Amino acid sequence: MDQLLEIDLKVGPLSNVEPILMQSAFEAVIQDEERFTDVKLNVNVVPIKVKCELCGVVSEVHNYVFRCENGHPTNNIIQGDELVIEKVRFSN
Ligand SMILES: [Zn+2]
Repeated sequence: MDQLLEIDLKVGPLSNVEPILMQSAFEAVIQDEERFTDVKLNVNVVPIKVKCELCGVVSEVHNYVFRCENGHPTNNIIQGDELVIEKVRFSN
């Protein structure tokens, strides 16, 4: 039977998820479940990205300054507020 080995989570800085807290919550849960004790959780933090409505450029947001790289202010977030399971791996 296939065994769950690993879970990859994709977390954006705007998701209100603290990666370290997520990790320790996960470990607390799997401690009580024998079949999950070897499961590994990988929390991957992705950068915030905005797409400018004026010039259409996609830019990474640094220090929560929501501007495109041409200096236009924008709140059109296309990445950075997600909390998704990106991948799960099973043994064969
Ligand atoms: Zn722009």
